[in-house]
Amino acid sequence: MTKPHIPKSFEMMGRRIKVVMDPDASNERDCHGVAWHVTRCIRLEYPEKVSRDELEALFWHEMLHHALDIIGEDKLRDDERFVDALSGVLHQVDKTADWGD
Ligand SMILES: [Zn+2]
Repeated sequence: MTKPHIPKSFEMMGRRIKVVMDPDASNERDCHGVAWHVTRCIRLEYPEKVSRDELEALFWHEMLHHALDIIGEDKLRDDERFVDALSGVLHQVDKTADWGD
């Protein structure tokens, strides 16, 4: 797999959030990403067969859970449909952005 465009960590409102990648996770689980709000961590658990695109989409999904938590939007944070839709759009921006260089 080409190296996914996923940071090792990032900051949000002064809080540094670590991203932990775990490619050895089981194939049988439905949810492969977890956003740990208390420990400020995103754990991406994914089987080897997951594509780079799916993995990046997973990162944006979990990042958005953190963002909504940090701004106090608890109801939206727990709305998986909303998080999936908006993170999908943000992922598209990340994939297609032309920074002019
Ligand atoms: Zn979710």
